[in-house]
Amino acid sequence: MSEVCEFCGALYWKNEVISSKKYTKCCHDGKVRLPNLTEAPDLLKELFCSNSQEAKNYRQSIQEYNSSLAFASMVAEIKEPLGTGPYCFRIHGQIYHMVSTLYSNERNKPGYGQLYIFDSSEASNRRMGNNQACLHSVMEKLDALLRSINPFSESYLQMHILIQSNPAVNVKMVFTEHPDLDLRLYNAPTSRT
Ligand SMILES: [Zn+2]
Repeated sequence: MSEVCEFCGALYWKNEVISSKKYTKCCHDGKVRLPNLTEAPDLLKELFCSNSQEAKNYRQSIQEYNSSLAFASMVAEIKEPLGTGPYCFRIHGQIYHMVSTLYSNERNKPGYGQLYIFDSSEASNRRMGNNQACLHSVMEKLDALLRSINPFSESYLQMHILIQSNPAVNVKMVFTEHPDLDLRLYNAPTSRT
C-alpha cells in the first residue's frame, strides 16, 4: 500500500484511485474527521507483538479468547460469497447480540456477561473448561483487563451486588445509543444501570 490520502494519511493500493486521480474511500477529502483511537492497553500490545509463550498462545487461540470473554453471543445469518477468493465474513440482514439474564438457570451453565459476577480466578477456571487450548494465566490477565476498562463488567457486578444486598430490588441494564457515539472505542460508556 504505497498511496497515502493527503488529508487523513489513510493508505491505499495504487489501483484504488478514482477517475479524478483521488483516493476517496476514507474521509471524503478531509470532510470526515475522527479523533485518534485511544492507545491500546499494554497487555494487548504485549500479546500482539511479543514472542513469549503467552503471546504466541494468545495469537494462536485468539478466537477462543475473544468468544470466552464476550459479554453477549452474536447471531446472524451468514451467507458466504459465491466463487473463490480470500476469506470474507458476509451476513444477510441484521446482526443480533443476545444478552443473557444476570444469573444462569439450572439448564445452562453461566456464560458471557454472567461470568463477570464471579471473582476473576473462578471466572477464568470456568472459561478454561470450554477453551482448553488457552492458557489460564492469559485468560486471567485478559479478564482483569476487561474488569478494569470495560463498563459492562462493572455493570454486571454492580447489579449482582445490588441484588445480594436486597433480593427484592428490580434492576435493569438499559443500552442507549447516541448518534455521535464513536463505535471504534471499545470502552465507550454506553451502559446505564
Ligand atoms: Zn482520507
